[in-house]
Amino acid sequence: MATSYNEITRELREIAAEVFAEHDIKHLLGFGRGEFSGLTEPVFLKSPEEAERLIFQDDAAPMLSKYLLKYKPDLQAVVAKPCDSRALAYYISEAKIDRDNLVIIGINGCPGIEGNTACQECDTRNPVIADYTVGEEMSQEELAAELEGVKYLLEDMTPAERREHYSREFSRCTQCYACRDACPVCYCDHCYVESNQPEWLEEGSSADKDMIFHLMRTMHMPGRCVNCGACEMACPEGIEMRSMTTHLYHRARKLYDYRPGISPEQPTLFSDFDKEDSEPGFLQ
Ligand code: SF4
Ligand code: SF4
Ligand code: SF4
Repeated sequence: MATSYNEITRELREIAAEVFAEHDIKHLLGFGRGEFSGLTEPVFLKSPEEAERLIFQDDAAPMLSKYLLKYKPDLQAVVAKPCDSRALAYYISEAKIDRDNLVIIGINGCPGIEGNTACQECDTRNPVIADYTVGEEMSQEELAAELEGVKYLLEDMTPAERREHYSREFSRCTQCYACRDACPVCYCDHCYVESNQPEWLEEGSSADKDMIFHLMRTMHMPGRCVNCGACEMACPEGIEMRSMTTHLYHRARKLYDYRPGISPEQPTLFSDFDKEDSEPGFLQ
């Protein structure tokens, strides 16, 4: 069963004090109430006295893992939703961050985020990696019952219908790149969209350029996207951002039984291949 938001909040505050007592951390990154927005936002706690600032509510949409990259030489503690724990496991598998520099407080039985369509099809409701946990672990049986009959976005559409859907959705894109910035696994220091040598994407927004942006971003995602829905939640235009990436997520799962970030020891999808492989791959 999913743990309640209040229970998670209460346990997080208790554990924060323990974490500060047991580790010499630079900060504890979690969720707190935004001073001006009133929304649930990332907060960096510096001392156990601040533990009461921690909350977990149904609008805790941001992925915290990406913030850690900025401070990666330091020992940091972080509150991790299961999808965030997968992003962390993925970082570790890519040697993007050192496991020894992380104290992970994982959330068991994640109750999900309001309005995030990814939560309806979420297949990882307990953290895959954690030093401390809060909440009740969700059993495999409970997870299977929650996923019974759930279909992922566009699952039943033909390629032609999908294409029409993508064209319609992405025609509203203004190329603000909020989706890229919110995505935990979109972390290149220099994104191709901002490169002018070579210039992969001309400045300005048009239906063709928008589609090129999304196609290129999507082609970076197989084997990396942890299907957290942060991109879609960040989009000011309400575009079904995950419709492309989710399709590839499920292709990788069906073809190779591969889900990104399931373990820090798991090889990344593109580093584990066989030249004789005759599988159709993602482009089918
Ligand atoms: S995608 Fe899963 S782990 Fe992430 S917030 Fe939603 S239910 Fe929780
Ligand atoms: S592309 Fe995947 S990993 Fe990135 S924000 Fe969207 S759902 Fe999450
Ligand atoms: S957040 Fe939405 S509008 Fe902005 S670039 Fe992404 S899809 Fe386009």
